[in-house]
Amino acid sequence: MNPVNQRIVLLGPPASGKGTQADLLAGCFHIPHVSTGALLRSECSRGTPLGKEADGWTSKGLLVPDELAVRIVTAWMKENSPRFIFDGFPRTVGQAEYLDSSLAELRARLDLIVLLELPDEMIRRRILERISCLRCGATFSTSLHDNQEGAPCPRCRALLVRRNDDSEEALDQRLKVYRDLTLPVVGYYERTAPRILQRIDAGEGSDQIFAKLLALVADKKDEG
Ligand code: AMP
Repeated sequence: MNPVNQRIVLLGPPASGKGTQADLLAGCFHIPHVSTGALLRSECSRGTPLGKEADGWTSKGLLVPDELAVRIVTAWMKENSPRFIFDGFPRTVGQAEYLDSSLAELRARLDLIVLLELPDEMIRRRILERISCLRCGATFSTSLHDNQEGAPCPRCRALLVRRNDDSEEALDQRLKVYRDLTLPVVGYYERTAPRILQRIDAGEGSDQIFAKLLALVADKKDEG
């Protein structure tokens, strides 16, 4: 498939399924899935200076400073064509403004922004039941799968772990950060790009959410 939508942003609280849905879309349309969280975790597990700097923020459930997030995205944009499914970026209004201006320099713009909405109680449950593969990014719920911490990832065989920020202690902080810093990004796009901003109830199953996402992409394709 060759969609008109080549620059897609997935917004939403922690555990709303941004990573899973971005992966599915990327597989379908061959557009790179860019997760700033995964890029930061990779820097961290390789012990790079940037990773060490980031870990001080991420392990507490705080956002890394805009300058650091922008640095990692700028490096990615330099090495890749400006086609992407961003998952976890932008997370502040400052980052959204940066993205707009760097796309403007390339004479490009966002095609689709999707907000995955999930109530706090579901976020809390999903986070506390979540284990992740830090190599391929797959996530599993310990309530639905036999996969437990320390077991091999069914996809890539690396060890499944509990992310250091998927803890009871970091959770309240992450929810507060989402409300205070990331929800205003939705307001920013409501003002600057209302035509391409869409919302999906992320409380449904992954297959239903993906069907709705595909319909949105197809909608935009018809418009193009
Ligand atoms: P995620 O995997 O998207 O849940 O991100 C994990 C953590 O990485 C977040 O809680 C932040 O500490 C950090 N992070 C990821 N993306 C960003 C971003 N765009 N801006 C600031 N911090 C980020």
